[in-house]
Amino acid sequence: MGTLNRITVVGASLAGLRAVQTLRREGFEGEVTLVGAEPHIPYNRPPLSKSVLRGDDDVTLPGAEELGDQWLRGRQAVHLDVRERTVGLDDGTEVGHDGLVIATGARPRQLDGALRLRTVEDALALRAELDAGHEHVLVVGGGFIGGEVASTARQLGRKVTLVDAAPYPMRAGLGEDASRWLAAHHERNGVELVTNVRVTAVDGGRVQLDDGRSLTADLVVGAMGVRPNTEWLDGSGLATDDGVLCAPTLFAQGAGDIVAAGDVARWPHGLFGGEMVRVEHWANANEQGAVAARNLLAGPGNATPFLDVPNFATHVHGARIQTAGLPHLADSASIVTGSLEEDRFAVAFTRDGVLVGAVAVDSPKDLIRLKRAITARETL
Ligand SMILES: Cc1cc2nc3c(=O)[nH]c(=O)nc-3n(C[C@H](O)[C@H](O)[C@H](O)COP(=O)(O)OP(=O)(O)OC[C@H]3O[C@@H](n4cnc5c(N)ncnc54)[C@H](O)[C@@H]3O)c2cc1C
Repeated sequence: MGTLNRITVVGASLAGLRAVQTLRREGFEGEVTLVGAEPHIPYNRPPLSKSVLRGDDDVTLPGAEELGDQWLRGRQAVHLDVRERTVGLDDGTEVGHDGLVIATGARPRQLDGALRLRTVEDALALRAELDAGHEHVLVVGGGFIGGEVASTARQLGRKVTLVDAAPYPMRAGLGEDASRWLAAHHERNGVELVTNVRVTAVDGGRVQLDDGRSLTADLVVGAMGVRPNTEWLDGSGLATDDGVLCAPTLFAQGAGDIVAAGDVARWPHGLFGGEMVRVEHWANANEQGAVAARNLLAGPGNATPFLDVPNFATHVHGARIQTAGLPHLADSASIVTGSLEEDRFAVAFTRDGVLVGAVAVDSPKDLIRLKRAITARETL
């Protein structure tokens, strides 16, 4: 590839912000154009399902103030021309580049008739509905966002029903033991669980299930996972399949001048036998934004693979649940400290005897230890 004089970053949230900061910190003196569809400066999403719903408006993302106002906010990229190296925007203008960072994240799967939760506007709309005094909240999807909404709604004194397609919420990410514990933890905290069913339609307060039953609620929130924002890349020739398909270094497959980072990127993870992964967590977007930008500056020949172990934490009814690695790859799992009865335990997940994942409930030191062991590819 040629000299980099102009770099465009599309997506002005966590990964995009970290990319812009890194370009500057690495001494890039060329032109940086940041394009973001939202009208706000980059903000932090984790509080949206927690403190914001309880009335705290602080969603500050440290570093966002460094952007100043020299960037394109409230503008959406609608087209990429790889050969001409231009990004087309929704107002008809085109932005040229020598290098491109794709950081367009993800958006919730749509469930007509249900509220959703991704943006600050979504959170304020949900908060307004909760403040309006609706008594019974039904959450569709027991993943980390659904679980946090359920937990916060209980804290606010609402009656809560949580509907999930799996036998236990978060089963794919937490494994059998911890998800079984989570189900019991929800129930002990007053959440009514309805599992092994899918919601087929929401009509006012009436929620239709695929087993023929229907439920009623005053407020329905959809939290059935997200889809990466890649539609604007259709027709560009870039390979997408549940995200932008990347090399281990986060360069888009077959491109020497385009990288992707955060919730939108899917890459073969070198610590897990090249398993293609897309990670929807804060720490991943935070680190990948920086690494993708550094690799773009270094060029494909000098780039380093992204090998961070995925990890995240969620808080549900006062318990801190943390994960590291990829528990779903495991062929075996065992509780290594504590017990389900104590509400404090750590689970180690192995594949062919090698650690590939960990889950810890109120055991942060164990999680750190296991995460290190996953990085070192230790056997149990
Ligand atoms: C309610 C909630 C709670 C969460 N809690 C946690 C948590 O506790 N722990 C944790 O680890 N993670 C949590 N997360 C996940 C974490 O926030 C995400 O992993 C992180 O925001 C991903 O950052 P990103 O920059 O990759 O993408 P996003 O944050 O999705 O940002 C992408 C940005 O790109 C913009 N965009 C999209 N398409 C275009 C386009 N064509 N042109 C221009 N701009 C575009 C979008 O509008 C958006 O602003 C939570 C997420 C939510 C929604």
